[in-house]
Amino acid sequence: MQTARRMKRIAPSPTLAIDAKAKQLKAGGVDIINFGAGEPDFDTPDYIKNAAMEAIRAGYTKYTPASGSQELKEAVCDKLKRENGLDYSMKQIVINCGAKHSIYNIFQVMLNPGDEVIIPAPYWVTYPEAVKLAGGRPVVMKTTDKNEFKITAANLRRRIKPKTKMLIINSPGNPTGTVYSETELRDIMKVAVAKKIFVLSDEIYEHLTYDGMRHVSAAAVLPEAKDWTLVVNGVSKSFSMTGWRIGYTAGPEDIIADIGTLQSHSTSNPASISMKAAVAALTQPASVLPEMQRAFNERREYVVGRLNAMPGVVCQKPRGAFYVFPNVSGVLAKSLDGKVIGTSMRLAEYLLDTARVAVVPGDGFGADDYLRISYATSMANLQKGLERMEQALQAVN
Ligand code: PMP
Ligand code: GLU
Repeated sequence: MQTARRMKRIAPSPTLAIDAKAKQLKAGGVDIINFGAGEPDFDTPDYIKNAAMEAIRAGYTKYTPASGSQELKEAVCDKLKRENGLDYSMKQIVINCGAKHSIYNIFQVMLNPGDEVIIPAPYWVTYPEAVKLAGGRPVVMKTTDKNEFKITAANLRRRIKPKTKMLIINSPGNPTGTVYSETELRDIMKVAVAKKIFVLSDEIYEHLTYDGMRHVSAAAVLPEAKDWTLVVNGVSKSFSMTGWRIGYTAGPEDIIADIGTLQSHSTSNPASISMKAAVAALTQPASVLPEMQRAFNERREYVVGRLNAMPGVVCQKPRGAFYVFPNVSGVLAKSLDGKVIGTSMRLAEYLLDTARVAVVPGDGFGADDYLRISYATSMANLQKGLERMEQALQAVN
């Protein structure tokens, strides 16, 4: 069957593919340690589950406005004011089916054919594909670990061309854990505002920062920044609600209205029951966060220490999210079965086959010298998986 040409330009999500493969092997009885999953290993808190069960019992099981329930928009407005110092009206908020959906919608609504979007690399796997699906052109801006994988305002200014429509900022970032400071963000936003480019600020990991780093929204660093920013956030990571599929977007009213129109002909409203659960998450005192933050911080220290002791591996300590992104170029230069390993994909396959450890190759994030390891798994799994990984790496030379 001949499907549309646009489908030939995109690849399946490697993060979801590896997670699915690891889960399938595990279900089949194979002793796999899964470092692929980008989801907290904590259960959704009971007070959130109860709100959903109450919604079902009360018959809150019908269509809501396509752009989301009034009640959840209010909760999002309050959250953005309380936690991010951002004043939005209800008409500047739209509820989406997960933050991934927010990103998809934004590009569908913003891009004309050939419009360019600057994407700092390493990037989250979905960004370039979502841009391409909307007919846009991803323009990758490489960063290095020498600058904590950050772009600078000066670099950005040089990259902006007449076709540049948007920039993506993801802080704290997936896969690098990079967290931009307020000053760095302000300098970047000054360039964006002066050059009239919109910034998609993906803030899904905002609550996961370490070493005293504080998340600041790109929309809040300058008075004019809000007019040029589309803030993307959701409940997946902060409240361990990945399966509930609730994300949201805040931005200029006309853009938000267009996203509502798009949803009215695509998904309609996000699940009414999940929206009730998200209201509970955003309005009741968070109980799961401090526990998650403590556990992730402890695991981060452990994982970075273990990785840096492995031959050919160099790992920076990330400042946010729940991933480490070690440089494995020292391993890729070694050989397996008489052939240089060469690519992150081949190394990841070797680790899966030999150590039964699932990691995501850096290739999908635009950085082939790296692997991504999620530490959103128990300390026992981390100990076991890293032990096996070390043994497997000692065996190549
Ligand atoms: N942005 C980033 C950077 C992510 O890592 C994820 C993880 N899935 C998302 C957005 C999407 O989250 P959601 O589950 O809300 O779609
Ligand atoms: N964002 C997570 C990750 O990067 C979940 C998987 C996905 O949505 O791609 O692993």
